[in-house]
Amino acid sequence: MPALLSTGQPTTTPTPTDDGRRAANAAAVLRAVLDRGPVARSTVGRLTGLSAGAVSRQLAELADLGLVRDRPLRATRSVVGRPHVPVDVDTRRHVVAGVHVAVLHATLVLMDLRGRVLVEERVPHLPDRTPAELVAELGTRMGAFLAEHAEGRRPLGVGVATGGWVDPARGVVVRHHRLGWRDVPVGPALEAALGLPVRVESHARALARAEQLIGAERGRARTSLVHLFVGNVVDAAIATCGTVHQGPGAAAGDVSHLPVGGCTPCPCGRTGCFEATVAERTLARRAVEEGRLRTPRFSDVLAALGAGERWAVALFRERARAIGRAAALLVDVINPEILVVCEAGTARRPELLDDLREEVALRSHVCADPGRTVVSGSFGARALGVAAGSVVLHETYTRPLDLGTRGSGM
Ligand SMILES: [Zn+2]
Repeated sequence: MPALLSTGQPTTTPTPTDDGRRAANAAAVLRAVLDRGPVARSTVGRLTGLSAGAVSRQLAELADLGLVRDRPLRATRSVVGRPHVPVDVDTRRHVVAGVHVAVLHATLVLMDLRGRVLVEERVPHLPDRTPAELVAELGTRMGAFLAEHAEGRRPLGVGVATGGWVDPARGVVVRHHRLGWRDVPVGPALEAALGLPVRVESHARALARAEQLIGAERGRARTSLVHLFVGNVVDAAIATCGTVHQGPGAAAGDVSHLPVGGCTPCPCGRTGCFEATVAERTLARRAVEEGRLRTPRFSDVLAALGAGERWAVALFRERARAIGRAAALLVDVINPEILVVCEAGTARRPELLDDLREEVALRSHVCADPGRTVVSGSFGARALGVAAGSVVLHETYTRPLDLGTRGSGM
């Protein structure tokens, strides 16, 4: 995020431009503290291009909001003059909450302001629930979850992440065909139930931002990134120049019908569509067809992969190849610095990424080094919870001063 340089001029009556600059400077300073904290004020100045005075003002304001704090180093010897007290993210006063809605279950999460998962809970969906009933149950669950785990820390808000077409501006899940949802106002419903700000986002876009904010390769992720989510649904997110592309109605990222070959039938009437080929339910069904399992449960296929059973490894290798074919198409169209794959198999057995990369090498016309371009997601088995929590985390780091203007009910 570019910092705006302080002019060093005497302050005059604030204008919208001053407010915008102040907000951008606060975000840049907070981001520097997240990246490098505990960090000296002088380093924050160097990283943001701001004057010492501007850094001090922003840090004071962020400290008042409970977002940063001094972290005195343990003195081992006396220091002449004023000690340099480093500053760090304050993880004691606030938390962010999240709920990820998957096809079969929801994941509730509480994270600190460094993006560390404090508590996570998986809740299976009860059968035969209408969308409104399911959202109401999630609201009740989240209320109890916060009451039990927030421990006096103020929740800054609740992030909701899910697959399919999500419109964050309205807080609406426009279409999630596997859940059978159409135009479900999750955000407004949960806000009314919880009395907290609720932000709704596609899990692929949420994870793209999480990679940029707290991911393992966030330096490279900030230039351009494609995030590919593969679960029971598949979704992509495209991030360039610090923003994640949404397009009209925030419909960007539907990759479910990319052609990846093969003969798996798709509900759209064709065969070889991406989602139908690689979905978790497809793998589970194939395990049953091959006589490996009695009931089509993906968690059992995943457990067999963990145990190194050859049939399961073969299924996941085949899946990795199909994901590689979709990844090659995306890499050629977008040419990102990195393409991040969030998928259960590669998260558990990183060697599966070799199959995926080989397919990219075979198919892509622009990717010279798939080993460097195609990487696993940073959050492993915690990706769903991180996706949800990071919706609010991203907003906090993008517009930290808004905390001062939000209601006390937050
Ligand atoms: Zn299709």
